[in-house]
Amino acid sequence: MFRNVVFLSLTIVFSSCSDKFDAEEEIRTNCKQGSEPVNKVLFIGWDGVRSDAVQTAETPNLDVLIASSLFSYNCDRGPYTVSVPGWSSILHGVWPQKHNLFENTFKKNNYEEYPDIISIAKQFKPNLSATILTSWDDFLRITDNEDYAQRYDNDKQVTDASIQLLSDCTPDLMFLHFDYTDHVGHKIGFSNDGLEYLSAIEISDFYLGQIMSQVYLRENLYGEKWMVVLTTDHGGEGIGHGGQDDLPQTRNVWAVIRTPNQEITELQSIKSVDLLPTMLKWLGIDNVPNLDGTALN
Ligand SMILES: [Zn+2]
Repeated sequence: MFRNVVFLSLTIVFSSCSDKFDAEEEIRTNCKQGSEPVNKVLFIGWDGVRSDAVQTAETPNLDVLIASSLFSYNCDRGPYTVSVPGWSSILHGVWPQKHNLFENTFKKNNYEEYPDIISIAKQFKPNLSATILTSWDDFLRITDNEDYAQRYDNDKQVTDASIQLLSDCTPDLMFLHFDYTDHVGHKIGFSNDGLEYLSAIEISDFYLGQIMSQVYLRENLYGEKWMVVLTTDHGGEGIGHGGQDDLPQTRNVWAVIRTPNQEITELQSIKSVDLLPTMLKWLGIDNVPNLDGTALN
């Protein structure tokens, strides 16, 4: 009897620290006006898009971005080839040994010691406005301190909402996450010749074009200068990508860093953790301590 009571109370303790998404904690609705008059950052994540496939797919809008960018098809996204460690490395600027996430769970994260890009940016510039929109709930758990954070049912809704927010409050930092590509990869396979997978990338490119129309319009009308960073968190092989640290098609990804008037430059080897200092530098924030990457521009 006594043992049962002990067991029951332990169960309650453990279930109260569950790893479930908590909407009340993550969703925020303050469309706060951006404070930076010129330099802004738009980050777009396409989940699970292989480097060879992004080159094979027909992506006219990405091609326009690349024509004014630093880009690489050989970006090391680091070990532990699943989404939570991957996006955490990108958005906290440190490898898993520091953020302490090796699987698709947020338990035991070390985010407090190694904060995310929004938290770092606001330490230097408290008035910045930051927005995150995603079709994958858990993406909202990777960052903190955003003013507006919302999840949607699909990538089209993410696109429509981002276009609306760009004109409503024009955040200084906007992060968008698109999940359909990863969904299709898990369903029919991550490959360089699967038509459905390639067409998922092409759909993402269509949304990119809609968002960029709004960005180009703002640049022309208001003199804003947008750094647009586009990347992925992992590739894949077969219908998975976990435990594939040694497979180049999973670990070696791609990244595009577009700024107005940038001369097209292919970088042979970069790291996912270089993206955070690159974005912060565009906002005038340099020499952040304890990062694993360096600014590329
Ligand atoms: Zn992923």
